[in-house]
Amino acid sequence: METGAAHVQLECRLCLATERDGPEGLEARLCFPCNCRAPVHHGCLMQWQRAQEEQFAERHTFDEVQARLNTCEVCGARLLLEETPSRSQPQLGSAVCRAQGGTQKVALRRVPTLSRATRNFSEFSASDGQQLEVLEQDVTGEFFRVRALGAKRYRGEGVTAVAEGWIRHVYLDWQSGVSLPPPRMPPAFLAEGTDRLGADAATAQDSVSQQDET
Ligand SMILES: [Zn+2]
Ligand SMILES: [Zn+2]
Repeated sequence: METGAAHVQLECRLCLATERDGPEGLEARLCFPCNCRAPVHHGCLMQWQRAQEEQFAERHTFDEVQARLNTCEVCGARLLLEETPSRSQPQLGSAVCRAQGGTQKVALRRVPTLSRATRNFSEFSASDGQQLEVLEQDVTGEFFRVRALGAKRYRGEGVTAVAEGWIRHVYLDWQSGVSLPPPRMPPAFLAEGTDRLGADAATAQDSVSQQDET
């Protein structure tokens, strides 16, 4: 190895090896599919996704399983592999949270799914009137990942310096006159019927009560 060069040997965060056993090519390539600094082999990530699918497919909704497969468990960002489209940037980098009624807080989700099971929520929230940095949009268009400074705990007292998480578009006020294209509804949303799960009804459910589905 050359001396003096900042030569970092990168290891896959899943298999902990540099080289991947098996055929060379895309699967053996180390990639950075999210915001984590540690890379992962393309093949190892796909293997992890298949394992997640097998583990959760029977117990959770299609919408939640897909959201889990495509979200990094560590940094919370969308996982992007080479063949997927580039990270979809919202047109604006910030928006104001609108969460009238109830606690005036919206719990930030760990994964962009409509499931309201407790496991999908972080302990922190965005508050009504709070300015949020908008980081990215999920694959369905329904959710945005946001960064909230001085985020309040969803339950009880206390704040944290910075919290990130996913939030439904209905809670974001872009305040610019630029209207975002209406998001596509995720499959689970359509399956349950748009009458009962209309945007207004879902808004009330989200900000008032979080129920554990399990
Ligand atoms: Zn690996
Ligand atoms: Zn990550």
